[in-house]
Amino acid sequence: MTAELHAPARRILVIEDDRDIAELLSLHLGELPAQVTLAFDGRQGLGLAMTRGPWDAVVLDLGLPGLNGLDLCRELRAQAASVPVLMLTARATELDRVLGLELGADDYMTKPFSVVELVARVKALLRRASLTAVARDAVAAGPASVLAAGALRIDRLQRRAWLRDQEL
Ligand code: CA
Repeated sequence: MTAELHAPARRILVIEDDRDIAELLSLHLGELPAQVTLAFDGRQGLGLAMTRGPWDAVVLDLGLPGLNGLDLCRELRAQAASVPVLMLTARATELDRVLGLELGADDYMTKPFSVVELVARVKALLRRASLTAVARDAVAAGPASVLAAGALRIDRLQRRAWLRDQEL
């Protein structure tokens, strides 16, 4: 867990037109620690999402002036496929929920929500994203081709073996 303690602050974009909620989120997410950027309308939010990345997470309100959260999420997914998105909405209909998840939100909360719970969920998204990144790196590195045991070394790909540096 040492790595987590020394990890650089995460960058989180909050797109929410209710300034009180936006400020509250900024305050609490900032303690993760995270550097939080606020946008108060959909167009500005999408602009920031596209040009100021990479972001570690986006918290996105559904009802926004300019461009609504669903359209924003769709555009974001088309261009920045992997950023975790947590969607917020004042409307608690099943349709919103399904649409939000279908358009690529990773999680979903209905207002009024508990800030503590929201922070916990963002944390979970960040953790999931970094695990995915670790797994991707491991796949990119490929399986180790050289096995070593005592004085014996075997290269499985080249089908060669050495005993005390003498090839067998
Ligand atoms: Ca709103």
